[in-house]
Amino acid sequence: MPFSEVIDRHVGHRRLVGLLARSVYRRTLPPSLIFSGPAGALTRQTAVAVAQALNCLSPRGEAEAFDACGACAACARIARGAHPDVFVVEPGDSGSIKIEAVRDVIDRAGYRPFEGKRRVVIIDEADAMAAAPQNALLKVLEEPPPSTVFILVTARPDMLLPTVQSRCQRLRFQLDEQAEVDEEARDVACRVLERAAGSEEARLRIDAAKDLLAGTGAGGREDREQLASHLHAMASLLRDVELLSSRASSMLANPGVRPQLDRLVKTFHGRRGLAAYEAVDQALLALDSNAGVKAVADWLVLKL
Ligand SMILES: [Zn+2]
Repeated sequence: MPFSEVIDRHVGHRRLVGLLARSVYRRTLPPSLIFSGPAGALTRQTAVAVAQALNCLSPRGEAEAFDACGACAACARIARGAHPDVFVVEPGDSGSIKIEAVRDVIDRAGYRPFEGKRRVVIIDEADAMAAAPQNALLKVLEEPPPSTVFILVTARPDMLLPTVQSRCQRLRFQLDEQAEVDEEARDVACRVLERAAGSEEARLRIDAAKDLLAGTGAGGREDREQLASHLHAMASLLRDVELLSSRASSMLANPGVRPQLDRLVKTFHGRRGLAAYEAVDQALLALDSNAGVKAVADWLVLKL
């Protein structure tokens, strides 16, 4: 099923699915991914949606709205499990994923995609692999064949070998935070953008990262959520800057900070604004795959 259907069926995952859609659209999807989330259909269906978005013959939309059509021959075959470039490996009757099954897909992944687009290997319930099949897989994860994407789907990512985990970008499926930008987060994001606009000096910028980390503390999930809320606010401001530079001011999401936006347009119009927006995106992806908040904030302020 396409991304749009995943979003309809699983309320509250619009943001992460949107990030994936945008990565496919921009061709920045990492070659090895772990989709971790509650057991059930969500993560597997999203993996199939990625396979369709990569292989659809008439995809539509742009960026986070990019999606497979759901109706072309490629989409239909992927949905039926009959596409020559999309493999799904899952536990057999024994409840485990055998090494032979893993070797088989690795062999097939070595060839170029038959239909010219991307090969996708989905390993469902990846934690059902014992150490031997995981080690067999590790070799290809270290040097993934070109044009192949591996997606390991699991509700228990910590059951995977640390070496496997470290080769994959992990996306944690959890409910989106409140979609509206909170005022406090917007003030922080605004301040950080203004400081970045005002100085190219690394030391001063790293100083601004401290602002981004406001409200974070002992580490862990709450800290990531706090920083993510600042980053969402920043993305929203940068979108507004983009709207202002194309004179579409009636659509602003943050009309209350218009004077600040007008100042930011001077620096963040055009290319630099787009690059900043992309950097915020990457920072959000890194947070989703468990990166530390300080590393993410420091990295981002230097990219703005
Ligand atoms: Zn299609």
